[in-house]
Amino acid sequence: MRVGIGYDVHPLVKGRPLVLGGVRIDHSTGLDGHSDADVLTHAVIDALLGAAGLGDIGRLFPADDARYKDASSLDLLSGAMDAMRGAGYRVVNVDCTVIAQEPRLQPHVAAMTAKIAERLGTDRVNIKGKSPEGLGALGQKAGIAAQVVAVIEEMQRRTPPPGAARRPPRQAGR
Ligand code: MG
Repeated sequence: MRVGIGYDVHPLVKGRPLVLGGVRIDHSTGLDGHSDADVLTHAVIDALLGAAGLGDIGRLFPADDARYKDASSLDLLSGAMDAMRGAGYRVVNVDCTVIAQEPRLQPHVAAMTAKIAERLGTDRVNIKGKSPEGLGALGQKAGIAAQVVAVIEEMQRRTPPPGAARRPPRQAGR
């Protein structure tokens, strides 16, 4: 088992769509960034890459690479999953907190959970919305942040301890 942590924050601006967990949410402002700026999905990616020891989202998908301009972050998540599976890991569970003064996230949590779970290949995805209670930049609606913890495990079964494989099979009558 390995654990990873992910954090991301993006500014809220006018004239951009708001995408969280792959779900387009109707709102007066949206997150600014090179891709679709899906702060939740970015934090999921960083948690998974961190757990697998594969660096971070910027190393896998450089922000100056034109291929990722306005990219769907769910597709980036699939790319990160490919890298993680290639390294021999699968997801055990993922727990997420999205910190947003607005909009209220509860009505969208089920849809966001389903979209991320589909890409991770597990239904052990938990998403929580948290209000910053008006405090600081997030409380002033300058942006939205996300924190994610991921646990992953090796896909192959561990090799048996020395001696275990050499033990002779039990014989009948003994
Ligand atoms: Mg980001």
